[in-house]
Amino acid sequence: MQNVDVLIAGGGLVGASLAIALDGSGLRVALAEAAPPKVDLQPSYDERNLALARATVNALEVLGVWVHCGARATPIRKIHVSRQGEFGVVRLDAARHGVDAFGATLPARELGNGLLARLDTCRDLIRCAPAKLTAIAHTDGAIAATLATADGERRLRTRLLIGADGTNSFVRSALGIESESTDYAQTAIVATVTPERAPDCAYERFTATGPIALLPLAQGRAGVVLTVPTTDAARVAALDDAGFIALLHERFGWRLGKLVRPGRRVSYPLHRLYAQRIVAPRAVLVGNAAQTLHPIGAQGFNLGLRDALTLAEMLIEANGDPGDPTLLADYAQRRREDREGTAAASDALARWTANEAPPLKLLRTFSLLALDRIAPLQAALVRRGMGFRGSVPRLALSDRP
Ligand SMILES: Cc1cc2nc3c(=O)[nH]c(=O)nc-3n(C[C@H](O)[C@H](O)[C@H](O)COP(=O)(O)OP(=O)(O)OC[C@H]3O[C@@H](n4cnc5c(N)ncnc54)[C@H](O)[C@@H]3O)c2cc1C
Repeated sequence: MQNVDVLIAGGGLVGASLAIALDGSGLRVALAEAAPPKVDLQPSYDERNLALARATVNALEVLGVWVHCGARATPIRKIHVSRQGEFGVVRLDAARHGVDAFGATLPARELGNGLLARLDTCRDLIRCAPAKLTAIAHTDGAIAATLATADGERRLRTRLLIGADGTNSFVRSALGIESESTDYAQTAIVATVTPERAPDCAYERFTATGPIALLPLAQGRAGVVLTVPTTDAARVAALDDAGFIALLHERFGWRLGKLVRPGRRVSYPLHRLYAQRIVAPRAVLVGNAAQTLHPIGAQGFNLGLRDALTLAEMLIEANGDPGDPTLLADYAQRRREDREGTAAASDALARWTANEAPPLKLLRTFSLLALDRIAPLQAALVRRGMGFRGSVPRLALSDRP
C-alpha cells in the first residue's frame, strides 16, 4: 500500500484546481479521478459556459492554468439584469467600478483543457485516472482508500482525504455526513447561439417560469442558459431549432436582434445540496461535494475554487500533519461565512425571482431600481460578485480593486 499525505478524490474543475495549487508544496499528493483524463470523457468538462468571477480568473492565472485556456475566454465588461414584465433594471459597467472586467466567460470544456494541460506539467503529483474511489476505512492516524482502476484495485494510505467528487459524493456518504437537498423542479437547458449583434454584456433576465442568462462568448457567439420547469423540459429539448429560437426570443426579447445558429442543447436538472459538515476525522469536502448551487448566480465553481484555494493555502502554511483536527476545524470556520452566504444568496435568488406574488413584484422592482442607482449598494454587490467575499484566499487577490 502506497502512503501519501493528501488524496483528492475527484479531478473535476475543483479537484484538479486543488491538485495544481498543492503541486510543489512538499506534500505527497495523489489525485484520483473516475473518468479517463480526456476532456470528452470527463463529466464536468462539458458544454456549460461558465461565468468566472474576477477572483477566479486571478487565481487561475497564478496557478498557471489561464495560460492554457485564457485565449478562449471573453471578458465580462458589462452586466444587465432585468425581470420580464417589470420596470426595474440593474446595469453594471466595469469601467465605473475601476476595473477592466468583472470576470470572464469560458466554456467548461476549455477550462477542462487548460486544467488537463497544466496537470501534465505537475512534477510531484501522483495522478490516478481512471480510478474510482470505492471504499475507505480509518486506520491508525490515516485513511486507507481503495481505488478501482483499469488494472484492478489500487490501495493508498492517506493522512488527509479530500472529497472533490461532486454532488453525489461517495466520500460524503462514506463519512456519514448528512446533507440537505432540494429539488428545484427546474431544468437548465444550455446551448450556444449567434445573435445578430455581438453581445458586449452578460444578461440575466428573470421570468415567472425561471431565469434566462445570455453570456458573451468568443467570435460574437452567446452562451444561453434557459431554465424551464422540469415538467416542460422534455418538450423544450425536443423543439426544432426554429421553435427553440422562438422560445428564446419570447423569454429574452430582441435586444440583440435575431438569434440564429443554435448549437447542441444539453439539459441539467437543478438541485440544491448543502452538506451539514465539511470536515470529519482526516477528511474534508470541497466544491459540489460540499454544496451544489442553482446556477442562477453563476457561483458554483467560483465558490468551490475558493474552498480549494483556502484549503491549499492552510495546508501549505501549516507545513505539518495535513489531517490535524485543529487545522480542519479552522478550515471549516474560515469557510463558514462565504459558504453559508453564497449558498443562501443563490437559493434566495432562485426562489425570489420566480415568485409572482404582487408584494414581491413591487419589492423586486424597488430593489432593482435601488441597485441600479445607489452607488454604495452597487459597489458592495460588485465586490461580492467578483468573488471578494468572506475570508478571501491570497491566490485570488493579485489585483484586488
Ligand atoms: C448549467 C450549469 C451552469 C453553471 N454555470 C456556472 C457558472 O457560470 N459559474 C460557476 O462558477 N459555476 C457554474 N456552474 C457550477 C459548476 O459547474 C460546478 O460548481 C462545478 O462543476 C463543480 O466542480 P466540482 O469539481 O466540485 O464537481 P464536479 O464538476 O461534479 O466534478 C466531480 C468529479 O469527481 C469525479 N468523481 C465522482 N465520483 C468519484 C469517485 N468515487 N472517485 C473518483 N472520482 C470521482 C467525477 O468524475 C468528476 O470529474 C454551473 C452548473 C451548471 C449545471
